[in-house]
Amino acid sequence: MENNVRISESELEALRMKIRKVVEVDLEKLSPECEKNNVFPKEMWEIGKKNDMFRLSLPVQYGGMGLCFEQYFTLLEEIARGNGGMRMFWHVANGLSWEILCERGTEDMKNKYLPQMATGDYFVAFALTEKDCGSGADIRTKAEKKGDNWVINGSKTLISFTDVCDAYYIIACTDESKRKTKDGFTAFFVPADSKGLRVENMPHMMGCRGAGHGDVIMENVELPDCCRLGEVGEGLTVFLHALAISRASIGVCLLGMSQRFLEIAVKRSKDRVTFGKSLAQRQAIQQQLADMATQVMALRLIAHECALQIDNDVEDLEMITSMLKLHGIDTVKLVSDGALEIMGGIGYFEDNPYGPLERLYRDARGMWLEEGPRTVQRLTLVRDVIAKDGEIRHGNYV
Ligand SMILES: Cc1cc2nc3c(=O)[nH]c(=O)nc-3n(C[C@H](O)[C@H](O)[C@H](O)COP(=O)(O)OP(=O)(O)OC[C@H]3O[C@@H](n4cnc5c(N)ncnc54)[C@H](O)[C@@H]3O)c2cc1C
Repeated sequence: MENNVRISESELEALRMKIRKVVEVDLEKLSPECEKNNVFPKEMWEIGKKNDMFRLSLPVQYGGMGLCFEQYFTLLEEIARGNGGMRMFWHVANGLSWEILCERGTEDMKNKYLPQMATGDYFVAFALTEKDCGSGADIRTKAEKKGDNWVINGSKTLISFTDVCDAYYIIACTDESKRKTKDGFTAFFVPADSKGLRVENMPHMMGCRGAGHGDVIMENVELPDCCRLGEVGEGLTVFLHALAISRASIGVCLLGMSQRFLEIAVKRSKDRVTFGKSLAQRQAIQQQLADMATQVMALRLIAHECALQIDNDVEDLEMITSMLKLHGIDTVKLVSDGALEIMGGIGYFEDNPYGPLERLYRDARGMWLEEGPRTVQRLTLVRDVIAKDGEIRHGNYV
């Protein structure tokens, strides 16, 4: 991966503070409209462009800042403190949207689309999940070679950003005889305006409003061979590698949200006085805050280790990224429940002087599922734990 730019600590801190303001003030102002209409307001793109938010991780040669993951994750954590739907968008814009094309696309495609992604003028959605199928090799969508072209038939579900994307990354079975192995699938770049492709909108979600979910249906969608990403039969490798990094990004987003819940809980516990003492002076509340802070710190350390492994090109990222996602879900559960409890009754209302707790609580729950639920993370990471006889020390990247 070509994310190797390291800016100075003072530059990083200035950028982090700028993004915090953008997220908690400028984008927050757009939240009520986004919540009400379930569509991202147009201003979101203008704010993103003005503040470099489309180009944090994209490699420099295509107009990005090319930040290393250790530094990019520091900024993603800030992005995750805000609106959940917009957080999903920035996380994909700085990751899944460009990575597969950058690593597997033809030079022509890279030169055409990646610079447009740096300015927010092109966006690719990621389409893996199918109805009545599991993840991984359980995929029914098919692609057949006819002459020089590929013909795709099948459908994908729960796909984010179907209302704003310009193209999709799709995985399809290209060899029925190898369906049970990892070599039966191939990845494709499918323009959203392809003939035979249509979207059926899904109902509104519990949180993360604005992220435009839909089913993507493909009937005889014809593509030239240059839209193939990687070799024939390499699709699962391509998708699983992209997913590992994306899973790490979700883990970092869980960290950003958990940190915000913790801060809200601490502030409220200092302000709120009952029977002559602040909640922060009560041992019962102190114990709760201690547990919350410890979980958040542990999550931060796993996130840091994960960033170092990605930056040091460790090949197998499955275990550390799944640990990060798993611990992230457990942490955000504990701290969001804790923050709501400590906030008392006002925490259950939309308007709250301590922050949008009610919305953040709903938004956080989307991350239970994005890039795989707890069960799947445990199944993924335990393979390495067993293979390594339980020797899972950090630092195998040096
Ligand atoms: C907000 C949101 C955005 C999303 N965006 C996208 C997107 O852009 N692109 C995309 O492709 N997908 C997307 N998804 C889909 C998401 O990746 C899936 O919902 C998730 O991977 C779970 O798959 P599923 O919904 O099919 O649940 P299921 O696979 O039905 O799982 C249900 C439960 O059963 C458990 N389970 C499943 N299989 C096993 C097993 N073998 N052993 C033990 N337990 C098991 C799971 O852990 C889970 O708890 C999105 C989902 C959400 C909620």
